[in-house]
Amino acid sequence: MPVPYERLKNALLAQQIQLTDQLASLNEVAMQDHLGYSNHQADDASAAFDQAKDLSIRQNAESLLKQVNSALRRLDNGTYGLCVECNKPIDTARLKAIPYAELCMDCQRKRER
Ligand SMILES: [Zn+2]
Repeated sequence: MPVPYERLKNALLAQQIQLTDQLASLNEVAMQDHLGYSNHQADDASAAFDQAKDLSIRQNAESLLKQVNSALRRLDNGTYGLCVECNKPIDTARLKAIPYAELCMDCQRKRER
């Protein structure tokens, strides 16, 4: 089965835009917090919780965006769809499910171990 590069590229570009937007709005929220919109004592615990939650969402989005960007780079230089670890082609079904995948199933499993 051939790899549908065009379709995967479009999916990656859409994801790139979505993640960039998400990070931008997270930064806006962080800025408002910084200006002291929520300065009530009682809110401190939940504010700290929200901040931790925001941080993990942001770290997630940032690491995802990094993977999406590097997948787009690999599309440009012709190494897309090859495992960065063992250089074998990544399963097409896997690429369709996770267009930014950079490891084949075997290497992914090894890394998670
Ligand atoms: Zn591999």
